[in-house]
Amino acid sequence: MTRFPVRPHAALRSVAACLLAVLAGFLSPAAQAKDWDIYTLGGREYVSDENVAKFYGFERFAKQGDDRIFKHPSLIMTWKIGSESIYVNNIKFNLSFPVVENGGMAMLSTVDLAKLVDPVVRPSYIRKPIEFDTVVIDAGHGAHDTGAKGPYGREKDYTLDTSLRLSKALQARGFKTVLTRSEDVFLTLGQRVEVANRYKNAIFISIHYNSSGAQASNGIETYALAPQGTRSTNGGSPWNSPLTGNTSDAENIALATAVHAHVISDIKAVDRGIKRARFNVLRGINKPGILFEGGFVTSPSEGKLINDPEHRERLANSIADAVVRFKTAVGKK
Ligand SMILES: [Zn+2]
Repeated sequence: MTRFPVRPHAALRSVAACLLAVLAGFLSPAAQAKDWDIYTLGGREYVSDENVAKFYGFERFAKQGDDRIFKHPSLIMTWKIGSESIYVNNIKFNLSFPVVENGGMAMLSTVDLAKLVDPVVRPSYIRKPIEFDTVVIDAGHGAHDTGAKGPYGREKDYTLDTSLRLSKALQARGFKTVLTRSEDVFLTLGQRVEVANRYKNAIFISIHYNSSGAQASNGIETYALAPQGTRSTNGGSPWNSPLTGNTSDAENIALATAVHAHVISDIKAVDRGIKRARFNVLRGINKPGILFEGGFVTSPSEGKLINDPEHRERLANSIADAVVRFKTAVGKK
């Protein structure tokens, strides 16, 4: 994917713990709407830091200036007033709306509460186990659509090679795999979605590499499908949707978290965060799906690394290991 203008890249983050351990073990009683005090600020709905700390039963909650720290034995979440991202166990999550201040409290939008914080800290909302034995792998770009170009090579070649390696790595771990393309051909986004939706009991992973006009840009980012608007169609609060069984966002975030956290920790890459966007390739997908950006081909250092087949093999194995962990965390108990 090519994107301008360039955003500043995130600082290198070390990963203290794999979030999946958290995903498997952090459970509390079912939510009720009365557990939340909703504030409307500038026409948008928010909940307070104190309410979040209480609701999720964090053992410690501290305010330090603009920082908010929520601590649980296996999970640390930090917010900063004014920031457009939060951290959970040192993994960066990009918000739909910044954290705002209100009467000494840090306020999180109910959109981000429902679509991001809740699925990450309390995956019990994924009530139905996600059972899958197949991974649909989508190698980005192809043929005349070269994707990003760097000093060492082209995105379309790297995505295909990485996808073929990922397919082998997943098969070695007992999964069935389907490739949207296994050679240098052009596919429309609609054709990719059509292939993905043909398979049941499957998840979808689209592989891309990044580019930027700034050579300094590097790092890995993982996209999950964006929430479907800021209000639910029935006029209720958007954060009600996970309570009423609309769990696709939760599944996407859980899959994105599993892959992103594991690969960042494994490959020691710069963490550009878990993000959400309505990429067309993901929009039509009827199964948990993510778009993985495995680094910048335009970066002199990262581009050289991506050009190394051994690095792509490591990346493929790391993603495959993450899929195994995800299956263990969200599958049938
Ligand atoms: Zn791309």
